[in-house]
Amino acid sequence: MITSDLNQVKTALINGDIIALPTETVYGLAANIYLDSALEKVFKLKKRPSYNPLIVHISNAGILEQIAKNIPAKARELANVFWPGPLTLVLEKQDQIPNRITAGKSTVAVRVPNHPIALQLLKSLNFPLAAPSANPFGSLSPTSAEHVALYFKEEINFILDGGPCFCGLESTIIGFENDKPILYRHGAISIEEIEKIIGPIKIKNKNSKNPSAPGMLTRHYAPKTQIQINDDISLALAQNPDKKIGVLSFRKNKKIKTEIHQEVLSISGDLNEASKNLYAALHRLDQMNLDLIISSFFPEKGLGKTINDRLKRAIK
Ligand code: AMP
Ligand code: MG
Repeated sequence: MITSDLNQVKTALINGDIIALPTETVYGLAANIYLDSALEKVFKLKKRPSYNPLIVHISNAGILEQIAKNIPAKARELANVFWPGPLTLVLEKQDQIPNRITAGKSTVAVRVPNHPIALQLLKSLNFPLAAPSANPFGSLSPTSAEHVALYFKEEINFILDGGPCFCGLESTIIGFENDKPILYRHGAISIEEIEKIIGPIKIKNKNSKNPSAPGMLTRHYAPKTQIQINDDISLALAQNPDKKIGVLSFRKNKKIKTEIHQEVLSISGDLNEASKNLYAALHRLDQMNLDLIISSFFPEKGLGKTINDRLKRAIK
């Protein structure tokens, strides 16, 4: 059930249950990181392969040492600037971090979410939460309590409602190799913003089959409906005359006939606003029984890079 009762949710977590919680990025499926049976439920419910590690969510940067060790100076700088916020750091793990969390890796992914409800919950617990996105593996991420209910209404007792996510894209993931920062996943903080703080960062090979971060899998974040990318939407429509089509647009595309459903992500052309609306628009399109969703790539700058990254993974 969808609830705003923090106490009920807290008790459920302490008892080893899993719940869904809002964060500023997307909704997460949360479990006590030290309870193997709870973590197992997360993997099972998401149908997430066990090689796919989970992100640890902590209430503040002051307890980072309980999770990670040998923390590079640049990681600390990033945490100072961006936490609480949509930045995940992949760091050397402390010995007590369970292998189930890290999928057997020696590194752990960790962040402080910037959502008042998630923070209040984390502060009230004496254990961190593993919280991967609250969707079946590979599918569209949920950015509202209702999206979570569409996926898991029967399977989870509590979906904590925090309204629509105000970033609406997953966190940016930064790891370190020989103390050099590497971008593992484009996310809600643009590379440009990260580079302003720590200088140039390397981007991990994009469409790897054996990725360092499984969010880099070629197909991920995908709606059920087929997606086609074409810079010329009118041409794409003309090429598919017999199909029921929906269009995903950045700004409103005035050339498209009104009888074709168009989801506009930002009338004013603001990439931050577009990011926030991306998944909700894709969820709506996905529920319209369309044959095809058509979109163009977004401007390849700032969060446009993250949106394009998600679109590329959705079409494969
Ligand atoms: P989600 O929480 O569903 O957005 O997925 C978590 C993301 O964090 C996945 O893409 C993981 O690959 C990534 N991640 C978690 N732990 C690690 C790690 N130790 N090394 C690299 N990536 C990680
Ligand atoms: Mg996910």
